[in-house]
Amino acid sequence: MANLGIPSNTFQILEKYNFNFQKKFGQNFLIDTNILEGIVKGAEITKDDCVLEIGPGIGTMTQYLCENAKFVIAVEIDKNLIPILNDTLSEYSNKVIINEDVLKLDINELTNKYNDGKPIKVVANLPYYITTPIIMGLFESHVPLDSITVMVQKEVADRMKVGPGTKDYGALSLAVQFYSRPDILMIVSANCFVPRPNVDSAVIKLTLHKEMPVTVKNEALMFTLIRAAFNQRRKTMVNALTNAGINNVTKENVLSALEKMNLPATIRGEALTLAEFATLSDYLS
Ligand code: SAM
Repeated sequence: MANLGIPSNTFQILEKYNFNFQKKFGQNFLIDTNILEGIVKGAEITKDDCVLEIGPGIGTMTQYLCENAKFVIAVEIDKNLIPILNDTLSEYSNKVIINEDVLKLDINELTNKYNDGKPIKVVANLPYYITTPIIMGLFESHVPLDSITVMVQKEVADRMKVGPGTKDYGALSLAVQFYSRPDILMIVSANCFVPRPNVDSAVIKLTLHKEMPVTVKNEALMFTLIRAAFNQRRKTMVNALTNAGINNVTKENVLSALEKMNLPATIRGEALTLAEFATLSDYLS
């Protein structure tokens, strides 16, 4: 099958199947071979790797992944794309195409089935409307992962990288940095997609930590505190946390923890580092 990264080949397939783009599924297909090669190279895919691709579309990146990986699990929600994928990927036997909503799938079960539970690599040009639930879902369900290399909205890539004291700092930054090291690999112009999205994009690689940068007694509590702090980010930590109605988190407990940490009682969540959220969580657990 011809390389779909070449625009004329993509247009030919779209025409052959009379394909209608579905906006609700965030369908913007890549049509730039340099970007596709850059993603596969940046993700460091080898013949030892099992790759999960979320949203293969018509199979453009899947072709590159099948060429370079041991095995590819491609999960696509749009049933209209399945006959197209069966056609464009027909020459590859090292893949499975699953017609499902990735948010409803048990990815741990998939890694057990297709990679004996060993760490997989996630590579995707993500549907932007569900970037955060996809990334958080992979981390929070403790899927065995080496890395996640994904195309996201540029603004979201920036949010994953920033530290305290900036307006983009939030629950996503802290979760990403707790589990992984984020590196922006490239900025991608809207011209590299069909149809053209209204936003700039970036490819970000999240390399899972081998050793956690901070330790915390109760990870779930720490993320509950983080979410509560940023849900009301203009409020002080004390007010945001006590308003959230978290078990055993009272005004007195929070004030006492902040005092032990030498932090002012008026501090806001956006000023705390990941290590400080971990310490706070340990005091409150
Ligand atoms: N990988 C293709 C490419 O780069 O050309 C398509 C990328 S497009 C930005 C996102 C893809 O994700 C679409 O094919 C869309 O149908 C699919 N998708 C959207 N929501 C999904 C979901 N919940 N589960 C699985 N796939 C989804």
